[in-house]
Amino acid sequence: MNAADESFIPFARPDIGEAEIEAVSRTLRSGWVTTGPETRAFEREFADYLGGGVQAVAVNSATAGLHLALEAIGVGPGDEVIAPTLTFTATVEVARYLGADARLVDVDPVTLNIDPARIEAAITPRTKAILPVHYGGLACDMDAIFAIARRHGIQVVEDAAHALPTRCGGALVGTLPSAAAVFSFYANKTMTTGEGGMVVTHDEALAARMKVMRLHGISRDAFDRFTSKTPAWYYEVVAPGFKYNLTDTAAALGRVQLQRLPAFVRRREHLAARYLDALKGLPLVLPADAPAGGTHAWHLFVLRLSDGATVTRDELIQALSDAGIGTSVHYVPLHRQPYWQGRYGLRPEQFPQADKAYQRMFSIPLFTAMSDDEQGRVIAALRAILG
Ligand SMILES: *Cc1c(COP(=O)(O)O)cnc(C)c1O
Repeated sequence: MNAADESFIPFARPDIGEAEIEAVSRTLRSGWVTTGPETRAFEREFADYLGGGVQAVAVNSATAGLHLALEAIGVGPGDEVIAPTLTFTATVEVARYLGADARLVDVDPVTLNIDPARIEAAITPRTKAILPVHYGGLACDMDAIFAIARRHGIQVVEDAAHALPTRCGGALVGTLPSAAAVFSFYANKTMTTGEGGMVVTHDEALAARMKVMRLHGISRDAFDRFTSKTPAWYYEVVAPGFKYNLTDTAAALGRVQLQRLPAFVRRREHLAARYLDALKGLPLVLPADAPAGGTHAWHLFVLRLSDGATVTRDELIQALSDAGIGTSVHYVPLHRQPYWQGRYGLRPEQFPQADKAYQRMFSIPLFTAMSDDEQGRVIAALRAILG
């Protein structure tokens, strides 16, 4: 069986219905397709969804959002940011855009989130920020991370690409006391705009800076220019900004997805609970669930082969593929990526937990458009291969 077969279960598939198609069509017919009223409404609704009085800044990717957030807190040449090695390269590539460097650290073997003890050890006089990644949708130990940040006078910018929604100590990620949190609406995330992202912050000045920098460093956005009383042709460039604004077609899609998010959450929780129950007893390390006061967004369902397994990870992925099931690996750790490895001369022994996890890990399909039957086939295939 291969990916062309109709019965192939992909690793992920976006859940886009008629309401989304309708909203995008309405926007296309409106005559305004770039950043405008849909984007503004999306920002308002997203901030309302999180609560806590945050401001939301829509961008065309989470990568753009991370770049804007680091720029706004003043990360520049010679500075350092601390991030886990077990993440997507976007988390730290943005530091390099600004001439700063990444200090990669190991993860906790249970949660696979950044290990706070390793953060403390990686701080130098150049450290500007900690970039926790809520891996798979499980919150990092934010109490410990905020305590370290306060002690050393450094900022926290959360890579919340997996964490919509994730509760941490009773509060939603996005409302915690970090400088900013950045969400992704990439095609396989818990909600999608195709490409897109949202930065949220409690800090008005930070939000204002990011709004200017997301559109060429211009002090008025295009919609404002064409709708306000000040002449449309006049604007001021106050900085060499970027082109990171979200389109209204994407925002229209996002507004519908946001309305469906509570139902998406229920579906993901249902699928995760069934996997956790059905995969017990196999030679697998199951993903950690959220502690009391927390919830797991279940963006990813990451399994690790345990010592008793008689197949390798690569053999298992091949066997699942032969059974018509797509998988992925999150992630080839950054210390094994040629660019990061070479720039910092990294060795796997420096990251024993992430490296061991990497050798044994694979992510199985968990998406809202997945049927119970499809999930049953994934479970049956894992039992057949590992049982
Ligand atoms: C998806 C992802 C990103 C990047 O998101 P984009 O919206 O594609 O830029 C960043 N960090 C992590 C951990 C991600 O999974």
